[in-house]
Amino acid sequence: MPLVKCPRCGERTEYRGNEHRPFCSERCKLLDFGAWADGEYSLPAEPSSLSEEDIEAVERARLHRSAN
Ligand SMILES: [Zn+2]
Repeated sequence: MPLVKCPRCGERTEYRGNEHRPFCSERCKLLDFGAWADGEYSLPAEPSSLSEEDIEAVERARLHRSAN
């Protein structure tokens, strides 16, 4: 019987008849997917909400202030 190692907990589980393979259980499958999703969402947000015009306005205001 082929055995697969669960990528989540490392437990060896039977490959055949395991609907959650390569994980040993649904719990491990969900935990692993959750960790992956958390990693995605914890990526630092890029300051892409500022448009070119916004950035220029900030720059102009900054230069204007420093000129006075
Ligand atoms: Zn597992």
